[in-house]
Amino acid sequence: MKISELFAKKTVFSFEIFPPKKTSSIETIYKMLDELKDLKPDFISVTYGAGGNLADTRTIDIATRIKQELGVETAMHLTCINNSQEDVSALLQVLQERGIENILALRGDINPDVEPKKDFPHAADLIRYIRKHGSFDIAGACYPEGHIEAPDLDTDIRYLKQKVDAGAEHLISQLFFDNHLYFEFLEKARAAGIQVPIEAGIMPVVNKKSIERMVTLCGASLPSKFTKMMQRYENHPDALRDAGIAYAINQIIDLVAQGVDGIHLYTMNNPYVAGKITESVSGLMNLDAAE
Ligand code: FAD
Repeated sequence: MKISELFAKKTVFSFEIFPPKKTSSIETIYKMLDELKDLKPDFISVTYGAGGNLADTRTIDIATRIKQELGVETAMHLTCINNSQEDVSALLQVLQERGIENILALRGDINPDVEPKKDFPHAADLIRYIRKHGSFDIAGACYPEGHIEAPDLDTDIRYLKQKVDAGAEHLISQLFFDNHLYFEFLEKARAAGIQVPIEAGIMPVVNKKSIERMVTLCGASLPSKFTKMMQRYENHPDALRDAGIAYAINQIIDLVAQGVDGIHLYTMNNPYVAGKITESVSGLMNLDAAE
């Protein structure tokens, strides 16, 4: 099923997972996938290492399992920074053979130690290519606070419009902890002519370290109530986790109440946390979009 068709029917609720480290066996996440399946997300997306190539088929294998064995819709992330046109073409062929219809097309983060491939300088170039070579449903990434390399949010939104014009049928946002920033971004994106559905990316705090790493990578700002929560519970992992779950639930309720198109939960491969959040919010997602 093409994911972009879902938005007309309901508030989409999706999960994101990442493949296990190369040193771990792929089976290590199958139990987790079974648990996530029981939570009935609309789709599960699987990240793709920016350094990935055809030899690293884990993302494809996991997406195939989600789709074919678990019967859950899937979206495969695909980055272009380390893939040539030839690589992408071969990957698209494999995806077609496996019946994977949805791709989140990304540039990938720049690694100063690796010379980027030149065929697709930006995600919009990859999106344009995928659009021409198959009938995939394509999503792109967006950044409520602006991408970390962008000089400002308005410039980033101008480039975001290029992704949509190139063929992105919906967008998934970077994580954020302040809903006001998301709504301000949404208003600007709509004013810039971006009319496709936009899913809000929500990352629950699983532990302090992982949030600090993510925030450094993507530059998300932290509202004071969030930093107070981190400080208060930093030495109590279970309490921090529970507070993080509650924080994410509050964010989601506010977003859904204000008519967000969808919620993309960065599960951090943690089915316990995903389960607690889903338990609290799944009833909100199933109201008919027309209501
Ligand atoms: P682009 O859209 O190409 O944008 C990158 C930068 O270039 C931005 O600053 C933009 O403003 C600028 N830009 C765009 N077009 C132009 C132009 N024509 N001229 C000049 N500047 C331009 N990374 C992974 O490696 N694997 C993953 O699986 C993965 N999944 C992700 C999922 C989500 C939901 C999100 C939000 C991000 C994900 N990322 C992933 C991270 C992503 O690869 C990085 O944020 C990356 O730095 C930018 O990717 P992009 O697709 O947004 O790039």
